Amino acid sequence: MKISVIGSGYVGIVTGIGFAELGNDVIFIDIDRGRVDTINNGDAPIYEKGLEELMKKNKGRYHASDDYREIKNSEITFICVSTPSNPDGSINLKYIKSASSSVGDVIRNKAGFHAIVVKSTVIPGTTEGVVRPLIEKNSNKSAGKEFGIAMNPEFLREGSAVEDFFHPDRIVIGFADEKTKNMLSELYSDFNCEKLFTDIMSAEMIKYASNAFLATKVSFANEIGNICKKLGIDSYEVFKGVGLDHRINPSFFRAGIGFGGSCFSKDVKALVSKAEEVGEEPEILKAVLEVNEKQPLKLIELLKEHIPDLKGRRIGVLGLAFKPDTDDIRETRAEPVISALLAEGARVVAYDPKATEHFRKIFPEVEYASPEKVLESEAVLIVTEWDEFESLDYSGKIVIDGRKIEKARQARIYEGVCW
Ligand code: NAD
Repeated sequence: MKISVIGSGYVGIVTGIGFAELGNDVIFIDIDRGRVDTINNGDAPIYEKGLEELMKKNKGRYHASDDYREIKNSEITFICVSTPSNPDGSINLKYIKSASSSVGDVIRNKAGFHAIVVKSTVIPGTTEGVVRPLIEKNSNKSAGKEFGIAMNPEFLREGSAVEDFFHPDRIVIGFADEKTKNMLSELYSDFNCEKLFTDIMSAEMIKYASNAFLATKVSFANEIGNICKKLGIDSYEVFKGVGLDHRINPSFFRAGIGFGGSCFSKDVKALVSKAEEVGEEPEILKAVLEVNEKQPLKLIELLKEHIPDLKGRRIGVLGLAFKPDTDDIRETRAEPVISALLAEGARVVAYDPKATEHFRKIFPEVEYASPEKVLESEAVLIVTEWDEFESLDYSGKIVIDGRKIEKARQARIYEGVCW
């Protein structure tokens, strides 16, 4: 199939290259000219395991452009632009709106059917209430007849996004017309997983409910973990026992310093905002966010039990990415941790294998150094669970661990946040 992908960030590039690997022709459209050039050189615009290799392997099956008119050469367009938060937490649809209008402009003069699929995470009602009317207005065509519209939420996890593309737990397709449904069924025919066909708003909500549940599980684990810490219990032992219950499932119980990343926080906030708009008080969701805001500061609380006055003290931070195997620092817990250290007057020296350059832009006052140099500080905080942190030498150090790095237990003084 000929596919176009609008927005070539974490979701767009992985989806597009995945479809190219499955034998489709893919056109990436992005407004970021630098990103377009990077892709056309066969380089990955983001760091994601296995992506660059797939890009090299499939060179010739895809190209990128900032010219929306190229969409005309495809049969199906995936909208994968970002959907950030407004300052009040509600969803900001400016990229979705501009992408929808541009798609409408282009298909105005296209003969034949064109399917448009929203893959970005959008609050229920957006695909039919915002995307569809903008395409109809700009194309002067009607949905369901001359073009089709669908919503296909994405569940990939950064850090294992390529693997997740090829082996998803499920594929959800919210559709309104049979033709688009059939095109998507054909496109996904090679995937050997549960495929759920729903109406469009249910597909939109499945994504929010999934992320909200996972975020809830993390905040729940952290709250139980905080109680365990005060009682001298290792919460990981507790959750091993809890997860053995088949009604519960063991994953996502890693207590620590909270969730980061581009999705959980913004999606829960957007859902809270939508709930309030329709007159519902989302008490659990609000508590999930509140626990998550406080949790990274547990590291500072524990650090101060050993070094009460941080002024002028040299404190090391291991890990800046919001999770291992990515260079993404959006909503990383390193940000509140380092802000708190700086506010207390500490001198911060930090290391991350992939995210340093992104982080340097927002925290130029931090010293960036090798892990060995970071370990020479007076105390070290572990913020991200990169594998390589399991092979450092922590002996003789003070380590406050936010992510359960087993090797760090060899430190002279070791504290885990929830264990
Ligand atoms: P991103 O910020 O990494 O990428 C977005 C891309 O869209 C950028 O390259 C940007 O230049 C481009 N763009 C913006 N406006 C455009 C326009 N009008 N036309 C063309 N290109 C445009 O975003 P992301 O992390 O890939 O997320 C995209 C969507 O997918 C969001 O709704 C997000 O919530 C959702 N999602 C993300 C993940 C994830 O792990 N990152 C997982 C599942 C779902």
